[in-house]
Amino acid sequence: MITKSSDEKSQKCIFCMIRKEEIHSQILYKDSDVFAIYDINPRAPIHILVIPLKHVVFSNLKEKILLDILGKLSLSARKIAEKFDIKSEGYRLVINQGNNAGQTVEHLHMHLIGGKKLAPEG
Ligand code: 5GP
Ligand code: ZN
Repeated sequence: MITKSSDEKSQKCIFCMIRKEEIHSQILYKDSDVFAIYDINPRAPIHILVIPLKHVVFSNLKEKILLDILGKLSLSARKIAEKFDIKSEGYRLVINQGNNAGQTVEHLHMHLIGGKKLAPEG
């Protein structure tokens, strides 16, 4: 079976293109591991995507790396929530995995959603 390398896949990845500035998107936050942008199709007044700089896929990641990157995404999301002043009112962090969850972009990302009272997830 021929499998595509991570590099080949990242060349066609919308988030990698944004990171490489091949497609413009306002960068809301960036550090050595993570960057954040507004979701192009916001489902709430605040809808931000927190994304590892590296093209990684949730279901393929080795355990230790997954623990590390989820910690980094969470910490960044928390900082961004403070920056957007929604720490006290609350917000939601979501990772969609696979078809039933409606995942559309393979590159791992965490949704930070807030700015209104959110309906229960289901
Ligand atoms: P998923 O459905 O995979 O959890 O989330 C992917 C998200 O990426 C969707 O909410 C979608 O609106 C967002 N998205 C897709 N293409 C673009 C784009 O080109 N720019 C930005 N900023 N967001 C995008
Ligand atoms: Zn990517």
